[in-house]
Amino acid sequence: MLVEPTFLENPERIPTEAVPENYVSYTLKHQEALPPVTWSNWYRELHWLHVFILCVPPTLGIIGAWSTPLRLETAIWFVIYSHLTGFGLTAGYHRLWTHRAYKATKTLEYILAILGAGVVEGSIAWWARGHRAHHRYTDTDLDPYNAHKGLLYSHIGWMIFKPRRKPGPADVSDLRQNPVVKWQHRWYLPLAFIMAIAIPTSVAGYGWDDWRGGFVWAGLLRLVFVQHSTFCVNSLCHWLGDKPYDDKHTPKDCVITAVITMGEGYHNFHHQFPMDYRNGYKWYQYDPTKWFLWSCEKLGLATHLKTFSDNEVQKGELTVQLKQLRQKQETLSWPAEKSDLPVITWEDYQTQAESRALICIAGYIHDIGDFFDKHPGGPHLLKKNIGKDATTAFFGGLYEHSSAAHNLLAMKRVGILLGGAPHGSEEKVVPPSQHLRIARYSELASSGYPE
Ligand SMILES: [Zn+2]
Ligand SMILES: [Zn+2]
Repeated sequence: MLVEPTFLENPERIPTEAVPENYVSYTLKHQEALPPVTWSNWYRELHWLHVFILCVPPTLGIIGAWSTPLRLETAIWFVIYSHLTGFGLTAGYHRLWTHRAYKATKTLEYILAILGAGVVEGSIAWWARGHRAHHRYTDTDLDPYNAHKGLLYSHIGWMIFKPRRKPGPADVSDLRQNPVVKWQHRWYLPLAFIMAIAIPTSVAGYGWDDWRGGFVWAGLLRLVFVQHSTFCVNSLCHWLGDKPYDDKHTPKDCVITAVITMGEGYHNFHHQFPMDYRNGYKWYQYDPTKWFLWSCEKLGLATHLKTFSDNEVQKGELTVQLKQLRQKQETLSWPAEKSDLPVITWEDYQTQAESRALICIAGYIHDIGDFFDKHPGGPHLLKKNIGKDATTAFFGGLYEHSSAAHNLLAMKRVGILLGGAPHGSEEKVVPPSQHLRIARYSELASSGYPE
């Protein structure tokens, strides 16, 4: 009888059985990994094909650029072809095949598969497999470009050295059945050569007789430029910027990385809402890939552009804002809680007020001994109200005090009057700075507000 291997025995198998602890830590603990790369073994651990792809074009390109003047036509072609092949990666490899963010017609699929080959980052099948694992196991050792291993590692280190372990399993059954993905995988090498070198060179050569410039600038250096631009999605986009939608993991939003990566720099949004065809969620955010897909839809080449509900996006945004507000709230000093204050009778208050500068406002007894000189209305008004109930005087009877004054008054609480405030309302009892406050879910039942 054939026994199906467990996911520990076969890292490609997607686990359906639950493990006794967290799936990632369980797998990392039980699955074999290669020994770490060290100073003594690094040369044996190099991935030579990747080293070749990542080192030869920049070396030849830089040497070539030294002796090849950049003509204006070729410079324009460099920019256009960078974008075209870049879209193959961002709109094709990434948003279409990895994330299924929209549906493309066969024509568009072939165009993107061919253009994407011009960036020489492997076939769609290989690339999307790794990127799905990146999303599923972000920031763990099952993430092929784990950002916690450093900026250089997540940029190119993960390709330069043989991976220490297989990326965590991810479902790619849809891609295995996709004829365009299969076709591109089968013809990948000739496609990559034609798109990366032959086409950019020929266009410049036949177009304006700049064969050498086309090869060096639009071929080699354009290839290096687009490769590193997309590598930045794994490195810089997990390192530079802020986290407006969730702060659990490393992905960040940043306009600089958005410009470098053709719109993929809103990476915090993208990791939260990966199936959204946009990375720049707001209309003004720089995301040419989003505009490209929007145009494809208008041209009838793309349909079913997926967007996440605004309500849920804003919920994420609010959660992060509330967390930040809570942190700020915790750095400030707040008035004593009702439960921490001694309860004092009216008679007791009267007696104590003979020797201390005590004023009763809204049911609270305040010690204003250190405040006479600082009172904007002068000390005499304070002195006049010592030992009295100054609630009405404070709230407009004599003068309608500012919110800041009310906040400060609350800091001077030393006791609470037995029987509470005769004119107590939330407005008077709770200082303005505490009308709203950020409370954890567990704190809501006992918010500590005086009733
Ligand atoms: Zn990422
Ligand atoms: Zn992604």
